[in-house]
Amino acid sequence: MHPFKVVVLGAGGVGKSALTVRFIQNVFLEHYDPTIEEAYRRNITVDGENSSLEVLDTAGAEQFTSLNEVYIKAGKGFVLVFSLTQEATLKEVDHLRKQIYQIKGDSGPIPIVVVGTKLDLVSEREVHQNTIKALASRWGLPFYETSAKRNWHVSEVFESLVRQMRTRYPLE
Ligand code: GDP
Ligand code: MG
Repeated sequence: MHPFKVVVLGAGGVGKSALTVRFIQNVFLEHYDPTIEEAYRRNITVDGENSSLEVLDTAGAEQFTSLNEVYIKAGKGFVLVFSLTQEATLKEVDHLRKQIYQIKGDSGPIPIVVVGTKLDLVSEREVHQNTIKALASRWGLPFYETSAKRNWHVSEVFESLVRQMRTRYPLE
């Protein structure tokens, strides 16, 4: 069975690596090298069915969009990450979302999940739940608020993506 290729994208420092490593290894890394880009593998059982995932934790700065293009072409599912403590990082999600639709075309629905991180940093929160709810509904995408530190709602993100990928690519 081929693994589903999942690409984790978002602005620098939003918590892409923390989210990925929490999902893959179930640990929280406080200081993860921001330049490390790595692909991880994990099997996951969703609705009684096993799937194999390859999760690419990207580390590119915004300007390296040509590299993003390569990842987006190869990817089957996308985790678009922003920080609930930094409203400006939502812009990058919108940008990436458009880039994905542009590159993938409209040959079918694209498995995407929008993820707000650092839910545990309550006093630093900048993005109101209504803001992200309204945006996600306008985009027609599921969204989750997570904490990699506390391990809140991290597995739901990948489960949602697996369900979408199975529907979109039933033969893989
Ligand atoms: P990346 O550049 O998007 O990969 O971001 P990192 O995963 O390296 O995280 C950036 C910083 O945010 C690090 O100092 C992490 O410890 C911190 N961080 C990431 N996720 C969380 C979280 O859920 N809660 C808290 N409190 N800090 C987080
Ligand atoms: Mg990182």
